[in-house]
Amino acid sequence: MYPYPWLERQWQRLVGQIESNRLPHAVLLRGLEGLGIIEFAHCFIQALLCEVRIFSYDAQGVDNTFVACGKCSSCKQFQVGFHPDVVILDATESSVGVIKVDQVRMLLAFLQQTAQLGGYRVVLIQRAEAMNMAAQNALLKVLEEPGEDVVFMLVSHCPSLLLPTVVSRCQSVECTLPTTVEVQQWWREVSTGTEQEQKHQLALLSVVGGAPLRLRQYLASSWYACRLECLEGLCDLLDRKISLYAFVQKALDWPLADLLALMLSLGIDALKLSLNSASEYVSNQDALFLLNRFSNQSHAIVSIDRFVSVIESLYLSVQASAAQNHQLSCERALLSWQALSQYVNGS
Ligand SMILES: [Zn+2]
Repeated sequence: MYPYPWLERQWQRLVGQIESNRLPHAVLLRGLEGLGIIEFAHCFIQALLCEVRIFSYDAQGVDNTFVACGKCSSCKQFQVGFHPDVVILDATESSVGVIKVDQVRMLLAFLQQTAQLGGYRVVLIQRAEAMNMAAQNALLKVLEEPGEDVVFMLVSHCPSLLLPTVVSRCQSVECTLPTTVEVQQWWREVSTGTEQEQKHQLALLSVVGGAPLRLRQYLASSWYACRLECLEGLCDLLDRKISLYAFVQKALDWPLADLLALMLSLGIDALKLSLNSASEYVSNQDALFLLNRFSNQSHAIVSIDRFVSVIESLYLSVQASAAQNHQLSCERALLSWQALSQYVNGS
């Protein structure tokens, strides 16, 4: 199986190139984190090396794609992470999150061998942007003469950090964000929630930049529960149902950077609504119940803008140094939020 439905087009393209013997010796998969492109690369390499590929046929009986069998010796060796014809480079091997020139140089011995199983030899570079300049220059030399039946597969979440000469030696395969319909269909298959819960979960897609796997990861972490609590608390603070002191005590349990990131994003959404933007342009779709109270409040723009500046400066300080006074920063942020209560509807 190819990993995710929104990458089907990219799968068809690459598989078609294997079938017609036009697979380039270097492919660059480009796309945001959270789209599953590293998993895609693994599935593709397994299918490329599989000894018994499984073909599927379209309605006209023409084979239009294939996948790995999952059972042959090549598949089994790949699945356990010890395939003799595959080398995977990743920044996590290095202590400083960088792919170093030595890692690239070590490829030379691998590239001089012949394939142990008689097929392709594959080099997968995960998070290729983690290569430092020396590593990228060394890779450039290898890409000039890759050897027979060698395929380089680079995966990058930030291809602008790659040397243009590296990019130009690869065939780029763009992995774009899935459509709403694609995510909804997939979510129905993977989510165990009720229809109402799924709707609420999908409203968070815009918060995580539209990347479905990031959404799944976030929902499974404490981030989601914390977010719900924060939103409820911020609403209560506007309505003066909770004291500032009580909220600050609660907020001390949450990561300060997460709270400030949420407040900053809410502030920007509130600005959009007070400028009469349509609610579809709001990032925090799950907080519309709260944000709609700022809509059509053009006289509040200056105050909301000031609020955004305060939160932004606190957020930048926290990013720059973890040694912030958590309580003071919370108080400052929440006081600024509370000052907006005079502008909301229905308070
Ligand atoms: Zn197989």
